[in-house]
Amino acid sequence: MIIGIIGDGQLGWMTIFENRKLGYNFFVLGKNPNAPASKIADKFFYYEDVESFLQSVDKVIVEFEHIPDFVFEKLSDCPCYKALKLKRSRIQEKTFLKKHGYPVPKFLYSDGYSLKANIGRFTLPVVVKAETLGYDGKGQYLIKSEEEVENILKNHSPEEKFIIEEFIDFLYEVSAIGVRDEQGNKKIYPVSYNYHHEGILLYNYAPFINSKEIEEIVFSLMDELNIVGLLAVEFFITKENKPLINEFAPRPHNTGHYTMDGSFTSQFENIVRTVSGLPLGSTETKVPTGMVNILGKSLEDFDIESILGLKGSTLYWYGKEKKPKRKMGHINIVDHDTESLKEKIDFILKKIYSENYLKV
Ligand code: AMP
Repeated sequence: MIIGIIGDGQLGWMTIFENRKLGYNFFVLGKNPNAPASKIADKFFYYEDVESFLQSVDKVIVEFEHIPDFVFEKLSDCPCYKALKLKRSRIQEKTFLKKHGYPVPKFLYSDGYSLKANIGRFTLPVVVKAETLGYDGKGQYLIKSEEEVENILKNHSPEEKFIIEEFIDFLYEVSAIGVRDEQGNKKIYPVSYNYHHEGILLYNYAPFINSKEIEEIVFSLMDELNIVGLLAVEFFITKENKPLINEFAPRPHNTGHYTMDGSFTSQFENIVRTVSGLPLGSTETKVPTGMVNILGKSLEDFDIESILGLKGSTLYWYGKEKKPKRKMGHINIVDHDTESLKEKIDFILKKIYSENYLKV
């Protein structure tokens, strides 16, 4: 069987090496033949060759949603189409969730011309997000005063559209990753605690909390979107203990990297099982597990020896060119006890970053 992966980044890279044991071939569609997944794929196709890619593969899975329009348009037969279409616009995504009764923060959308007036309809602070191509905090602005609106328009044309959201003073952020196969069988990984810094995931660990409500939301959303594969859903937990959906991602997710070392079946193996006719694997954790992202650093920039000296730590290094804040790799860490796991995450954070983060 040949499995086609749309996207050439580290999510595809982990999908390939995690599933070499299944003996499938993996073809990658992307823009860079030297990207992590391209380098270990059986065959690489440029986006421009999307038609021959689709003709060459038996099944398609997605690891990256910000694909060019001409590639997206060729995917109308793929089960991924509905979710991918919504992910092309934050406005469409949030509007869909609200329309179907899922809990989301209050929001409005606006073009750049009316941004100031529309922001005036909220109590500050608000979070303004560009409609398209925003991820890892990109195109996102925390607005505390009216004057700050000008800064947004320095980076964007007034023709562009934006979503204006109430700022949620959350207790914490969590996510849950669901998996659904071609027959509609579903499972869900435990809810993880996620800590973001400047809009980018810094670390997470699971299992964190049990929540029937979150489970029901993820299961129902997977059916609604007709997902075959994975659906990661990120939530804010409000001070009233209510989950609000921030966003979803129909693909492997950074908050599920821990599953490679902590779960009976990782997210990367389960996504492949969904399209290859194999039964879904257990999503339970074998042991509490954490993940720390290595952002904008090379291995020479910090004390990797003492981190890898920790019992239960594993390094995943994506082999990408270093850029500020870029996800360069991650460390997974397992421990039999959640409290000592948190201490180890703290230790790893201090070794990688000199800044002081909130105690885990
Ligand atoms: P996003 O790009 O929408 O996933 O946002 C990245 C991160 O920014 C989130 O994980 C939060 O930490 C923060 N954030 C986004 N939207 C809001 C909001 N409405 N209120 C508070 N924090 C937010």
